[in-house]
Amino acid sequence: MNINFDASLIKKYDTFGPRYTSYPTALSFNPSFKELDYRDELALSNQTNKPISLYFHIPFCKSLCYYCACAKIITHKNERTIPYLEHLTSEIKQQAKLVGSKRTVTQLHLGGGTPTYLSDDQLASLMQSVYDNFNVADANTREFSIEVDPRAVRPTTIPLLHELGFNRISLGVQDFDPKVQQAVNRIQTIEQTFDVLDAAREMGYRSSNIDLIYGLPFQSVDSFAKTLDIVLGKRPERLAIYNYAHMPNKVKAQQLIITADLPSAKTKLAILEMTIKKLQAAGYVYLGMDHFALPTDELAIAKKEGSLQRNFQGYSTHADSDLIGMGMTSISKIGNCFAQNSREEKSYFELIKSGHLATNKGYRLTIDDQIRRDVIQSLMCQTEVNYQDINQIHQINFADYFQS
Ligand code: SF4
Repeated sequence: MNINFDASLIKKYDTFGPRYTSYPTALSFNPSFKELDYRDELALSNQTNKPISLYFHIPFCKSLCYYCACAKIITHKNERTIPYLEHLTSEIKQQAKLVGSKRTVTQLHLGGGTPTYLSDDQLASLMQSVYDNFNVADANTREFSIEVDPRAVRPTTIPLLHELGFNRISLGVQDFDPKVQQAVNRIQTIEQTFDVLDAAREMGYRSSNIDLIYGLPFQSVDSFAKTLDIVLGKRPERLAIYNYAHMPNKVKAQQLIITADLPSAKTKLAILEMTIKKLQAAGYVYLGMDHFALPTDELAIAKKEGSLQRNFQGYSTHADSDLIGMGMTSISKIGNCFAQNSREEKSYFELIKSGHLATNKGYRLTIDDQIRRDVIQSLMCQTEVNYQDINQIHQINFADYFQS
C-alpha cells in the first residue's frame, strides 16, 4: 500500500502529543497500581494460556548520545553490570514461577541502553536462565530480537547471539553524516555498521532492522537523502525512521544539543516527505507510524493480510500476547493492565533483593480505554479503522460513541 504525503493534514494536527507505544501511554500510569495487582492479573491471565513475550532492559552504555530519551546508565565500569544481572536473574526466576510451565515464550527482546555492553559470557548466562526457567517455543516459531549498537560489538557477538537463539537484530544508526554524528555525540562509521549487518546475514538471521532519526542538528533534505541512499544500498528488511522530539526540559541529555542547530519544522516535514517517497520508490512497504519493510518481510505480508500487530516491542506478526518486562524501568502488559518496574537502579535492586517484584506503578484499562486502544491499534497497524469491527468487539455504535 502506498501512502500519500499530505502536508496540509499534518499541519492541521500539528500539536504536541505522546508517542503511542501503548494506550494509555506511560504518562497515565499511577503508583496506586501495586505488585499485588500485577500478581492478580497474571494469575487471571494464566488461565487464558496466551503466549508470552519477554523484554529485558539492559541500561548500560559507554557514551551518551545527546538525543537519547531512554532509561540508561552511562559508565565505563563494566563491573556495574554484575549486580544488575544478578538482580535480573532473580527477577526471571520470580516471574517464571508466577507464569508456570504451561505458557510458551514466543517472543523475546533485549533492549536498552546497549544490550551488547554485556560480555559474551554474560549474554550467554542471561539467556541460559531464560531457557532454564521459561517454557520457550521452538526455534521456527519464536521471534528473538536484540538492539545492537554497532560501536559495541565484538567479532564473536553476532555468531554467539545467533547460537543463543536470536533471529532478528536491530541496528541503531540515526545518521551517517559526520557533522550530525558529531553534534549528537554518536560517531559511527558506515563500515562498522555494515560489518555487523553482513555478519548477521551470513549467520542466517531472519531479518535486520535499521533505526534512523530525522530532525537532528544540521540535517537537511539533501544530507538525510545521502544517509538513506547508503542504507538502502544494503536493503535492510526493515527500517524505522523516528522523528526527533527536542524536549530539553524533560530530557537532560538533550540540553547538550544546540537548539539553533536543529532543522526548522518546515525542513523536518520536507525530510519526512522525501523519506516516504524515497522508501516507496525503493520498494518498501509502509507498515504504519514510522516503520517500513520490504514486501517479502513477514511484517509486510502481515500488513497485507490485515494481521499486523503492534506492542511495546514494535510491529509483530505475533497475535496479542502478554508481555513481561524485566529490569529497571521495564513495562509489562498483562491482560488489560500495564505494570512498570521501578525506574531507578537502586530501588529496583532493593525491591528484588527483598523478594518482591519491582512493580512501581501501572494502569488498569477501563472499558473506554479498551475501545480507544483498539481504534489506535487499528490505525497504527491497518492505517484505517473498520467501524463494524469495533462495533462488534465492543458492542457500541462507533458513530455515536465518537461523535464529539
Ligand atoms: S541512543 Fe542507545 S547507545 Fe546512545 S545513549 Fe541512548 S541507549 Fe545508549
